This record gives sequence, C-alpha cells and structure tokens, in this order.
Amino acid sequence: MRTRRFSGRWPIAAALALAWLAAASPAGAQPGVLRVVTAGRERYVTLRDFAAAWGLSYSLPAARLVELSSSWTRIRFETNSREAWFNGLHIWLHAPVVTVQQRWAITEADAKKVIEPLLRKNALLRGQRARVIVLDPGHGGQDAGAQGRRGVQEKGMVLDIAKRARTHLANAGYKVYLTRDTDRFIELETRAARAAAWGADLFVSIHLNAATASTAKGIETYVLAVPGYPPTSAAAGSSVPRLVFPGNRNDSANAILGYYLHKALIDKTRAEDRGLRRARFVVLKNCVRPAVLLECGFLSNRNEESLMLTSAHREALALAIAKGIMDYSAAVRAAQAAP
Ligand SMILES: [Zn+2]
Repeated sequence: MRTRRFSGRWPIAAALALAWLAAASPAGAQPGVLRVVTAGRERYVTLRDFAAAWGLSYSLPAARLVELSSSWTRIRFETNSREAWFNGLHIWLHAPVVTVQQRWAITEADAKKVIEPLLRKNALLRGQRARVIVLDPGHGGQDAGAQGRRGVQEKGMVLDIAKRARTHLANAGYKVYLTRDTDRFIELETRAARAAAWGADLFVSIHLNAATASTAKGIETYVLAVPGYPPTSAAAGSSVPRLVFPGNRNDSANAILGYYLHKALIDKTRAEDRGLRRARFVVLKNCVRPAVLLECGFLSNRNEESLMLTSAHREALALAIAKGIMDYSAAVRAAQAAP
C-alpha cells in the first residue's frame, strides 16, 4: 500500500480507515482514494477530492482562497495562481489552481510532488539519510556574486554563514563538508560532483539575492522543479522540455528538506516570506541526494545589506540553516523507525 499512492481504487471501508489514519497521524499519513481528472493534456486532482482523500475539510474562507484543514494542518490555495500557504508558510505550485469540471483543481504533479510530501514527511523519507551534510557557499574567487550598494559581496557573506552553520552542525554530531572554505572559485558542476564524492546525504547551497528593484526583500528557498513544468521565475504555463535530471529522483525529499529549511529561516529571521520555489539551477539538477538552494536576503536592499553586515544576523541565518537540517534529519530518523 505504501507504494500504491493514487494508483487504484480501494474498497470504501479501507478508504474510510485511511482517511481516518490521515486525520489521526499527520507525519505518517497515507492518502485515501484520489481521482485524477484529465483536461486537455494535463492531469488534475480537484481540491475537494484531495481534501476527502486526506481527511481534510474543504472551505472557501475568502474571495480567491480555497482552504483545506484539519486540527493541525491548514493549506490555503489562491485561485488562478501558483501561490499557496502550508501552515502559514508560503509555497509555490508548478501550475495555477484552475477550475476543472466546475471544481477548483491542482495538477496531479503538484498534488504528489508539492503538497503530499508535506503531509506525509515521514513515510516519504524512508531510504534517505541525513548524517553527512554538504554546505555550498555560492560563488568565490573572481566570481563575487551579488554586490550591495555599500560594496558588500555575496561570496564573503555566504562563506561566513556556511562556516557558522558548519560549527552548529558539527557540534550536534553531523559530518559536515564545505564545497569551499576559502575565497576561491569553483565551477558549478564541480560542486555537486564533490558532494557525491564525499558521500553527501544532503546538499544545501547558500546564496544572497539581488534585484533591480531596491524594494525587493526577503528569503527564497529553491528546490528542483519537477519535469515538464516551468520554474517559479517564469510565467505559469510556459512550455519547457520534459527533461528528467538526477535531482528529480528525490523530488519528494527535496520538497521536505526545502520546507524545513524555509520554515526555519522565516521563523528565525521574520524576514519577508517569498516562498519555497522551484528552479533548475545546475547544483539542484545534478545532485544525486536531496538538495536545496537558499537565497537568504537581498544585498540590493539597503536594510537587508545593513543587516547582513551584522554578525548577529549571519549567526541567526546559520542557526536557522542548522535547525532546518536537524528537523529534516529528525524526520528521516522517524521514517526509519516507523514499522
Ligand atoms: Zn548567488
């Protein structure tokens, strides 16, 4: 049953029992019967069906919002949009919530690869490990990365944050590698290859953002987009070739690791929550283990640049990164311990 997600129709009694189980145990839950509706070339799941399969209640709390909830889970979807909130944390779908047969629906890919991993974290982490951690401070050497108005350079800030996170993780007993621990240039392809050679269980790339609009601020977390859908930065529905990368073998674990890291960063810093997003960055595509890329703030924003100059803020970011990894690791251990 563990592997037959969404694939068949179970007897009603079993479905009811599973819906009850889904409602009774958040992390190890299993979905009930889930019907897939085809429209054009896309496969959808209506939000009413999704709610029923997971024992969640369905409501329309305000204009343009659909909410699925239980005592401990609240998922909000904005209609005709890719934006959603899982227990208040901002997450991006690969495709907008649209009406299919007069019902609000999400793609089967988003149901399975974006929302479901957050509902059954433990079950989907079976087979993962989280002992050897590779932290990847972006850029280095001749590649300074983003630059602030006061001249703060991304490459130096992210190296400091990575070293601080390494200390916290090493103190907690993890084996930690940095793709660079000095100011030197490393090719993007080399970073994922190095992680694989070190036997990494997971990979976290650390960056700072920049935008032409100086008002842009906040934190973004990226995981690899699932095959066939545009990245969050591209318009919804843009066509992309359906390529499968090594990183796609971990779509569910990527989503879970991304969620824990993004949650820890937003909780700890109270920065603007720009969401758990999807992209096809080289380091995410090539990693054979779960991988996440963090954009920990905007150097193009005066306030965030000033903040980044304080060791207290860099320490807060490092602590949040360590906490996100430890939360993921606890979920992996729970998955291994589950019967
Ligand atoms: Zn960068």
